[in-house]
Amino acid sequence: MRRVTGRTDRVVIVGAGLGGLSCALYLAASGRDVTVVEREPVPGGRAGRLSVSGYEFDTGPTVLTAPELIAEPLSALGEKLDDWLSLTPLDPAYRAYYPDGSTLDVITEPARMAQEIDRVCGPREAAGYLRFVGYARELWRLERDDFIARNLDSPIDLLRPTLLKLFLLGGFRSLSSKIGEFFEDPRTRRIFSFQALYAGVAPQRALALYAVISYLDSVAGVHFPRGGIHAVPVALAGAADKHGVTFRYNTTVTRVETHFGRARAVHTAAGERIAADVVVLNADLPVAYRDLLPASLAPRRISRLRHSPSCVVLHLGSTQRYSKIEHHNIHFGREWAGTFDDVIRRGRLMRDPSLLVTNPTRTDPGLAADGREVYYVLAPVPNLRAGGPGATSWRDGGLGDRYASELIATLEARGYRGLGASIEVSHVVTPADWAAAGHAAGTPFASAHTFGQTGPFRPGNLHPSLSNVVFVGSGTQPGVGVPMVLVSGKLAAQRVTGSCL
Ligand SMILES: Cc1cc2nc3c(=O)[nH]c(=O)nc-3n(C[C@H](O)[C@H](O)[C@H](O)COP(=O)(O)OP(=O)(O)OC[C@H]3O[C@@H](n4cnc5c(N)ncnc54)[C@H](O)[C@@H]3O)c2cc1C
Repeated sequence: MRRVTGRTDRVVIVGAGLGGLSCALYLAASGRDVTVVEREPVPGGRAGRLSVSGYEFDTGPTVLTAPELIAEPLSALGEKLDDWLSLTPLDPAYRAYYPDGSTLDVITEPARMAQEIDRVCGPREAAGYLRFVGYARELWRLERDDFIARNLDSPIDLLRPTLLKLFLLGGFRSLSSKIGEFFEDPRTRRIFSFQALYAGVAPQRALALYAVISYLDSVAGVHFPRGGIHAVPVALAGAADKHGVTFRYNTTVTRVETHFGRARAVHTAAGERIAADVVVLNADLPVAYRDLLPASLAPRRISRLRHSPSCVVLHLGSTQRYSKIEHHNIHFGREWAGTFDDVIRRGRLMRDPSLLVTNPTRTDPGLAADGREVYYVLAPVPNLRAGGPGATSWRDGGLGDRYASELIATLEARGYRGLGASIEVSHVVTPADWAAAGHAAGTPFASAHTFGQTGPFRPGNLHPSLSNVVFVGSGTQPGVGVPMVLVSGKLAAQRVTGSCL
């Protein structure tokens, strides 16, 4: 495994996102002197917090899977997950609502889930589900050890027996055709393949390797921390602080100082210079290459990255509770393949939208005052480079507010009666806001190469020519989403220490 060269005693990590925090914990455990420089006043990055009039909103991730990956960096420092976070397993993990009026609960115990699928779609479909569980579990086992949780230096490192096994398992075929081997009913096909969108690809174009996201979601289980998802970065930062990591909040890094092929300091907007033996960058990868590092050293392939679709998130504080919904609710529109086409290729808003509605106060009522509910509505929309609405339309043209009203009307038509009238607080986040927060192409989801959706095909975590600059987070390996980003922290730390942690 390649590692950074020279001294590695003082490490500066730019960004206290989940990737940067995970890396900080592993490096602190290895005895490094770690400073985390974060432009915001709190840790978490995309897993942030919006507090308005007594309502506490998570700003990014809502579906938390694989909590063992949170426990791992904590245990590197001898800390126990239970001492830092109180997690509730969600049962069901989701409730799916289909245009024909049927609903399907996604339950993470296979035997109960098979009964649920039998109830809604019949015994043949339930048998297909049980075969899918075996398949996805094997896929996860193979991918996790050899491709996800491992630093790879070159494509040659992929040439392991596992690659052949993945090939034979059909991992390099399209996700939707592979899913079609297990499921016939369009409802189950949707619920076990929509997760590809997390990585910015339509199931028709994603590799079957992506079934591991469906596995983490729908088989391994979904959890919710008391205090919301933002409690996760708060816990990781708390543990890091306890073990001597220095946090510099409200401090923006403006550039990395380099000298003869090495980074030797970061400079802040306030004019301060913070010396470093190693610099770890948790900022969006294309942005880090463009704004923080010498432009002449950026590899050409970075400018050719394909941007994921974006999303609108509507945060609602409401007086209305709905008894028939669950913590996570996926409302599928009639359109399916057309939806992906609209958002990803045509740059259009969904005509018959599929929406995620999360109601976290159902699990943690402490996120709002008594009798009040938090709703988080997520709608995939084109990014700002897809040829659709631009930042000006979203911001100044009032599209953000109009789209928010449309989403509320859609939800009312799908059973959320009286939602509009119950709203006390409403806050809409659009691609223009994601762009203003520094995310390339106005998408908060990561970019990738056309073929490079996951693992070793993504941009690498070592700078190609600066020998002590490392990347961490969703822009690099192994991928997008909370579990992958936590793993990226471990991989980045290994590049510094040179050993498996
Ligand atoms: C709306 C939304 C919904 C999502 N839903 C899910 C979900 O349900 N489940 C899931 O697993 N994942 C989900 N994700 C993805 C997940 O949130 C991200 O993959 C993950 O949080 C990214 O973490 P990160 O460490 O890579 O980056 P970030 O969280 O972006 O952290 C980067 C940090 O660097 C800081 N920074 C950047 N530049 C500078 C600078 N120059 N100086 C100082 N600091 C700087 C930023 O302020 C930030 O704190 C979602 C994301 C979004 C946005």
